Amino acid sequence: MSRQLTDADQALRQRIAFDAAIDQLTRPVLAQDQAIVPSLLDQLADAVQPGSEHTGKTATGSRPPAAMDALALAADIGVEMRQALAVLGEHVPPAPVDQVRAWAAHAERWQHEAPDYLTYATDRAGYWVHAIRTLLDPPRRYPLRGHACPSCWETTVSVWSDSNDEAPLRRTALTIDVQRAEATCGACEATWPLDQWQQLAALLLQQQQHDTLSVGV
Ligand SMILES: [Zn+2]
Repeated sequence: MSRQLTDADQALRQRIAFDAAIDQLTRPVLAQDQAIVPSLLDQLADAVQPGSEHTGKTATGSRPPAAMDALALAADIGVEMRQALAVLGEHVPPAPVDQVRAWAAHAERWQHEAPDYLTYATDRAGYWVHAIRTLLDPPRRYPLRGHACPSCWETTVSVWSDSNDEAPLRRTALTIDVQRAEATCGACEATWPLDQWQQLAALLLQQQQHDTLSVGV
C-alpha cells in the first residue's frame, strides 16, 4: 500500500504543529543560564504595559510604534479568543495566556471531529508565534555610530567584556532602543524619548554638517 496520508494522519500532524505553537505561546521556558523566560503571550502582555519601568508617565498621548504593534496584536488575539470561547461556551479568563489555554484544551476534539477547524487554529496559533517573535526578537539596541552625545559630547564609552578583561572595549556612546522608543547615552546616561527624537536628530544632523565642514575641504 502506498504511503498516503490518511485524514487521521493529517489531523495528527496538524495537532502536533498546533501543540508546538500553543506551547511557545503559553509555557515559560528555562533558559541555559537558569533564568525563566516567560511565555510569548506573557512577553507580549509585558510589551503592552504602558511605560513599564522608566518611561512612566512621560509619553503624552503617543506610544512608540513597537508598543502600538504589540497592542494591536494583543487586541487581535483577545478578540479572537473571546469569540472562540463564547462559541465553545467557555468562561473567558482575564489573562490572554489563560484564554489561549482554555481554547487549546479543545484540540483533542478538533483533531477527531473538526479537522478543518484544527487546521485553521494551527494557522492562527502559528501566525501568533511568528508575529510575537518578530515583534520581540529584533535586537533591542542599535548603536548610533559616529555621533557625539548632545549632552556630554562623548562619542564612545568603555565597556568591560566578560571574555576579555585585559582591556575595556570602546563602544558607541549613543544607542537607540527600538522597543522602548528611546535613545540613550552610555557615557552620561541621558535618555531621550523618541518623541524628542526629531529634535535630537536635528542636533545630530547639525553636528554632522559642522563636522563635515570643519573636517572636509
Ligand atoms: Zn552623554
